[in-house]
Amino acid sequence: EAQKETLGFQTEVKQLLNLMIHSLYSNKEIFLRELISNASDATDKLRFEAIAKPELLENDADLRIRINFDKEAKTITIDDNGIGMSRDDIISNLGTIAKSGTAEFIKNLSGDQKKDSKLIGQFGVGFYSAFIVADQVDVYSRRAGLPADQGVHWASKGEGEFDIENITKEERGTRIVLHLKTDELEFADGWRLRNIIKKYSDHIDLPVELPKQQTEAENEDKTKETEWEVVNSASALWTRPRTEVTDEDYQEFYKHLSHDFENPLAWSHNKVEGKLEYTSLLYIPARAPFDLYQRDMNHGLKLYVNRVFIMDQADEFLPLYLRFVKGIVDSNDLSLNVSREILQKDPIIDSMKSALTKRVLDMLEKLAKNEPEKYKSFWKAFGQVLKEGPAEDYANREKIAGLLRFTSTHENSKEQAVSLADYLSRAKPDQDNIYYLTGESYEQIQNSPHLEIFRKKGIEVLLLTDRIDEWLMNYLPEFEGKKLTDIARGDLDLGKLDSEQDKQEQEKLAKEKEELVERIKKALNDQVSEVRISHRLTESPAILAIGDQDLGLQMRQILEATGQ
Ligand code: ADP
Ligand code: MG
Repeated sequence: EAQKETLGFQTEVKQLLNLMIHSLYSNKEIFLRELISNASDATDKLRFEAIAKPELLENDADLRIRINFDKEAKTITIDDNGIGMSRDDIISNLGTIAKSGTAEFIKNLSGDQKKDSKLIGQFGVGFYSAFIVADQVDVYSRRAGLPADQGVHWASKGEGEFDIENITKEERGTRIVLHLKTDELEFADGWRLRNIIKKYSDHIDLPVELPKQQTEAENEDKTKETEWEVVNSASALWTRPRTEVTDEDYQEFYKHLSHDFENPLAWSHNKVEGKLEYTSLLYIPARAPFDLYQRDMNHGLKLYVNRVFIMDQADEFLPLYLRFVKGIVDSNDLSLNVSREILQKDPIIDSMKSALTKRVLDMLEKLAKNEPEKYKSFWKAFGQVLKEGPAEDYANREKIAGLLRFTSTHENSKEQAVSLADYLSRAKPDQDNIYYLTGESYEQIQNSPHLEIFRKKGIEVLLLTDRIDEWLMNYLPEFEGKKLTDIARGDLDLGKLDSEQDKQEQEKLAKEKEELVERIKKALNDQVSEVRISHRLTESPAILAIGDQDLGLQMRQILEATGQ
């Protein structure tokens, strides 16, 4: 029976709706991209489920999206024959936001519409974007495989609540009717819709159809059934040869994949043939997602097998320190029945993972070399994450090390802009070490007494002040044969950088001051493990150093903070 009920939106939905309507007014047309994207996801899901259960196709295997409009009724209708939704599906999908961290995210919005619109774009506006242009939305849906009388009608004005009732719906799939706001009627127009579809959805691997343009006479004839015309290219973008894909196409596809509003910094599209056959299209976003450091952040690639969509967030194809990469991988070697469990065990995946990892690192190297400005913004957004690399991916540590950027005494700024290669290009001819100093902040260590001797000798020192830096250095013993050396540790030996004369003077001094050292040792008793004459200071009288084997200061703080 048609149990009708009225339900309230989850608080976060209400907040998001409100913000969206007020922040996205300058980019209204994206509502269509979002709805087409959902319809396309829904047909992908059906195609996937139908592999195991062909009967779900119900003698209607020509999957497509149809978009119609009615100027007089002031409506736009988006109709798909995809997987559809049951009553329960619709209540949870169109009444709540399942994404983790949503409440946190909404709390962080500033109220500044320009900034918020970018953030919301990144968060993914999704279905609710329908309310940017509509003051009433009706959704009619039936899940594939359920009987016709188990359809549902969902209706809402996008305020606090929605109505839901059971209906009979013969065709499976979802039909969404947008009742346009009075000042959004421009969207109920064939040319306008066609342009938006071309602009945002050309790459969708599914026919997007509009009613065929008709002559006046044909229009008069109301008995004639609508004829449909495909308006997009309807071939998966990654299957086209690179030379036939424009930058705009790549960028739009990225936005479709990632829900980002901004263009990506870089992408890499490759078809691999030989022992393994697959196509990958990988993107580096321009900005960090809000949940980059959350354990359950959405990441991973979209996996296709022979162009059939299999799963989102397949995180077996890239290491965690590259979790900011968005993209797809389409394999010819995996089975359509592949599951996450299989992915985790399949040796094919390991070789794909190392190839894809290398591809991303190469892409970053190229970006750093050819577009340093873009690399700078990449580093700002994702540098911290890349620093996790040497620990997670020891095999690639040298390559990753080349991509790292640091603050250094060479520049008078705390921007992390110096690469290890830059450092080495300026190193003294006899220098065997890459020197660094760690600390809590740039302000705190830029005038550290540890640096005195280095300043005097004109030797550059990297200044590491990110929490992760000491940990990173544990996994980065050397770069291009030069040892990475903490200048705050043990007895600093400048090796060949000290002249013979320096050394003699140091020894002489040590002899002379032996007695003083003993006295200080006694006085400090067991508060220090050793007292030594130091050659590192030129101005300060004394310095505290850390033993070679001891934990660094940052590590101590981290352990203390976690109660160890
Ligand atoms: P997202 O697409 O990022 O999951 P949306 O807000 O766009 O978020 O959609 C929410 C959910 O509603 C989708 O995940 C899907 O389960 C469901 N949904 C939306 N549109 C359709 C549709 N046309 N057919 C089937 N399910 C849909
Ligand atoms: Mg969506």
